[in-house]
Parts: sequence; C-alpha cells; structure tokens
Amino acid sequence: MVTERVKELISEIEQITVDSKDQLEAFRLRYISKKGVVTELFEGLKNIPQEDRRAVGQELNTLKNLAQNRFQEFNAAIESASDTNPEMVIDLTLPVVPNQQGSLHPLTIVRRRIIEIFERMGFNVSYGPEIEKDWYNFSALNFADNHPAREMQDTFFISKSEGEVKDDMLLRTHTSNVQVRLMERQKPPIRSIMPGRVFRNEAISARAHCVFHQVEGLYVDRNVSFKDLKDTLYHFAKEMFGKESKIRLRPSYFPFTEPSAEIDVTCFICKGKGCNICKYTGWVEIAGSGMVDPNVLTNCGIDSEEYTGFAFGMGIERITMLRYGINDLRLFTENDVRFLRQFEGA
Ligand SMILES: [Zn+2]
Repeated sequence: MVTERVKELISEIEQITVDSKDQLEAFRLRYISKKGVVTELFEGLKNIPQEDRRAVGQELNTLKNLAQNRFQEFNAAIESASDTNPEMVIDLTLPVVPNQQGSLHPLTIVRRRIIEIFERMGFNVSYGPEIEKDWYNFSALNFADNHPAREMQDTFFISKSEGEVKDDMLLRTHTSNVQVRLMERQKPPIRSIMPGRVFRNEAISARAHCVFHQVEGLYVDRNVSFKDLKDTLYHFAKEMFGKESKIRLRPSYFPFTEPSAEIDVTCFICKGKGCNICKYTGWVEIAGSGMVDPNVLTNCGIDSEEYTGFAFGMGIERITMLRYGINDLRLFTENDVRFLRQFEGA
C-alpha cells in the first residue's frame, strides 16, 4: 500500500542523521533527486484509483516537503560546521586579511625624504660624533670665546676646562661639527649633507626639546656662489613641499657664514594666502644658510682664496611638524602608538 510506504519513509527521514557531505549527498539521491524514492512514488500516482488519488497526492506532498526541509537543515548544519574547521575555510575568492605592519617614525620618513632629494642633486651623506670637542662644535666654526651659545644654559658640557685653551667636551649643539671634520680630512670639491641628533639644554615644551634632529648641507668648491645656494634650496623646496613652492631669503647672522640668510618657503597649508600655521604671513621659515665664512675654511685647512662654499641647516622636527600639521614637539618622543599609527604607509 502506498500510504503505508509513505508512513515508513516519513519515519525513516525523521530518524535519519547526516554528519558529512557524503551522507548529505546520499540523502539527496535517495529522497530528493529525480531517481529517488519520492519521485518514484509520484510516478506511481497515475496507477492509483481516481477516488484515492487526491488523498495519496497530499500524503506524497507532505513526504516531499519533509525530505526537502530536512535536506536544507542538514546542509545548513554542515556548512556552519565547516566554517569553524580551519581546513575547510579556504576560499580563494575572499579578500585577504592584511598583516599587521609596523610603520616608520614620521621623523624617519622626513629624514629619508630630505636625504633622497639631496642625493639626487649629487650630495653624499656624512655622519659624525654626538659627543664632541669644543673645537669642532664652536671654535673652528668661528664662535667667539664669549659667544652666548657656549654658555651653560644652552650647551650640555661633559667636562669644562679652566685655562685659555678650550678643550671642553660637550654634546654637540648642531650637526655643524661634521662639516668641520669633513673639511679637515677631505679636499674640495665637498658636497655632503649631515643628518643627526643634536642636544641643547632647554626645558621640554610643545615648541622646544633638549634632543632634536638636524640636517646640514655643505658645498665647497671653486666658484661656488650665493646663486648656487639659492638654486639648491629652491629645488629642495619644490621637491619637498610641491612644485608651486617659492622661497624667500631674509638677511640673518650666523658666526660660521657670511653673508647669512634665513630661508622661508611659501606656506603649503594656505599656499601663501595666510593661515594660523604661517601666522598670516604666507611664509614659513625652514632653514638657516649662508656662504661659509673664510675663517672657517682657513680653520679647516682649506685655502679660502681658492675655494668658496655654502652651508645650510634645517630642523627635521620643524619640517615634519609643518608637513603633517603636528603642533606638539613632545609627540615625537612619547612613543604613543595612536600617534605613530597615523603614519602607516606615509
Ligand atoms: Zn599659511
């Protein structure tokens, strides 16, 4: 009897369990597919007497729906189980989960950029000691004995001499010591930049720190002129701050250059219109510069009749703050990852 066969199948389906994809496929072939038992019963419907056909048809529909619902349940259970099984979740169409990557410190990013720009102009890179003799930090650079920069409030002295001869040891207050060492051991042409850490005895605040970074540049050769200085810094400004950048030179004073000039660049926040970064002048100061004082050349054993040179220096922190709109110098040394993470991919 068809009705009994249907009841048998219903109880069979209700008791069945499916744990694998193979079992699920066997279930599908037996109860769902066109060659399965349920289809077979539907095909037998035409042999059922007319008066019973409607009732049997309803029973068959119940069986068919049960088989399909159970199939969906088993399928869903197997799918969700495979989600938690690492061997079964390889889906090559999914987007990759990115690796957590570290990032470069903003000062490193800017230092590397500065080096890259000057290297393309033919400058090499030189380094020198952070603990230095007075001669290399001050005397050779034409600092008078009573120059205020030598005073205790600016310079960290390691040892201080009493007599006439200055043989103090100190933490360098600028990277200019590398210029002196370079000129002492190398004959012109010299074309080099000197990045490094410098130290000054200042209270730490948003605008001052006792440790910071500079890059200085030196070019000594025959016929080096002020025009070369201006061209070099103009090219640097355009590379660093954008093609539209202009530079402006203001007369200044440094013991080791004559004449000396402060270099301003068009404010790259407001493009010269005026904003609070440039204090509404349209210009921001980026470097000090000048023609190397003949006394300095002579102190370093270079004939100042034959050779001339230019030098410039800039603070890496300052350039970085301007470039990224950072308003507190202390952020560079606090190692707060929320700050540092903002430079990923910069
Ligand atoms: Zn501005």
